[in-house]
Amino acid sequence: MKQATSPQSNLLGYSLHSLFQPLHRAKSNLLGYFVAGVVLAAPLCAHPVQEVQDAIVADVLADDTAYEFLGHLCDDHGGRLTGSPGNNAALVDTLHQLQAMGVDAHLQTFKMPGWVRLEDEAVMVAPIQRKLRAVTLSYVQPHAPFEADVVYLGDGSAKAVEDLDTEGKIGLLAPNAAQLRGGYNEMAEALGLKGILRTCRVNGGQLLCRTGSFQGEPIHVPVYCITQEEGRWMQRSLARGKPVRVSLHTRSYSKEIETANIVATFPGKTKDTVIIGGHFDSWDLGQGAIDNGLGTAQLFGVAKALQTHARENLRTVELVWFNGEEQGLWGSRMHVPTILDRPITAMVNLDMVGFPKSLNALGFADLVPVLEAFDATLGERQLDDGVANVNWFGSDHTPYQLAGIRAITFGAFIEPDVVRYYHDFGDTFDKIDPKMIAESTATIAALTYYLANVEGLDASRLDRAAMLALFDDERIKQRMLSSGLWPLADDEADAEAAK
Ligand SMILES: [Zn+2]
Repeated sequence: MKQATSPQSNLLGYSLHSLFQPLHRAKSNLLGYFVAGVVLAAPLCAHPVQEVQDAIVADVLADDTAYEFLGHLCDDHGGRLTGSPGNNAALVDTLHQLQAMGVDAHLQTFKMPGWVRLEDEAVMVAPIQRKLRAVTLSYVQPHAPFEADVVYLGDGSAKAVEDLDTEGKIGLLAPNAAQLRGGYNEMAEALGLKGILRTCRVNGGQLLCRTGSFQGEPIHVPVYCITQEEGRWMQRSLARGKPVRVSLHTRSYSKEIETANIVATFPGKTKDTVIIGGHFDSWDLGQGAIDNGLGTAQLFGVAKALQTHARENLRTVELVWFNGEEQGLWGSRMHVPTILDRPITAMVNLDMVGFPKSLNALGFADLVPVLEAFDATLGERQLDDGVANVNWFGSDHTPYQLAGIRAITFGAFIEPDVVRYYHDFGDTFDKIDPKMIAESTATIAALTYYLANVEGLDASRLDRAAMLALFDDERIKQRMLSSGLWPLADDEADAEAAK
């Protein structure tokens, strides 16, 4: 897909994960709109099987299965970059463990643009010779080694670069630079840059893996994330008029891959379906324990809880482990078209859910009373911050929303000293508090059970106007624009209009 934006227009950073999202209580929701159809076809009954839900919670809290599962996943397979040997082996391993529990699980295979990381090198050659601690962004391509002067681009905005001589140089971006996802080719072309260095937004020698192109297009200039410390060093030298030169040699490359989601089904009394999903893949530097080993393990714990306590529910439950999220929501984008012939009640996305603090109806105002009623069933374990209703972009719930399907995320807490390792070497199993897995999985399993059984929830999809209203927010539109997801393709519009 063609990028519909110029790099200079993308000044808003992404927040990829729920825990970075500002949470507002439901009463602050400004997204007023009408939902197509009546959601609560009947008034909500008192929760029909509180005892079963309570048994699920008690069981999960006392069970270390999900924690143990995550430990083995991390230590046996390492990071799970989609298409890598570690990801492939972890996928098969997880599938077999689900099947061994008696869960009806299968792989849903799909093709996507993959990317293979090899030994890439970024070396400072002036003012001194020094190998930089650096990591390439996905979808950069191999090139012959070259050396060039570095030019400081500030935040990369049009204003910051307007008077700079950038031709043939390597651009250095500040820690606060826009993410320019998918915009690197355009930026390099517009400024004549030979390479781009992004200074990491976290200090302490950390690096930040991220996708270079949401749509998987090759990036024709090498783009590296470098540490905040080395980036600031270069910036200070340049500010004093001291030349900085860097040599780059990139060996990583793109290739088409076949990968898969895992789909586990618990058939219900009706075809109405509740989807609980979370991404399985991670970046490769660490183990992806937090991002998103958490969601991967929580889904595993939910599968065990349903298998033990609630194999058959009013609605069908589908658990989905998505692949390819980090490189552009590939697994969820592939899953959505496979479910559009079925009535979907809601989709719950689990991306880095630590200790649950709130639920978020993501702009679907009609879900707020449903989630509040659920929260009330939790008794002593009720969520501290209740139910929020604010949409955000950047994880696997978005493709469902775009199809008019109601989506839900959690607001949650992870220790700052743990979450700082996001997308870096330090995202490893030693950071995982077993209590965080047990507490979160208990609440998620309870929500799954509740959504699968509560009376009176319908499964209609939003009409196009109501769906568009969810995204009527400049910040979200900007973020989606820079990912190539906005504006929506005409064929989608036509398909919707034909309904
Ligand atoms: Zn994630």
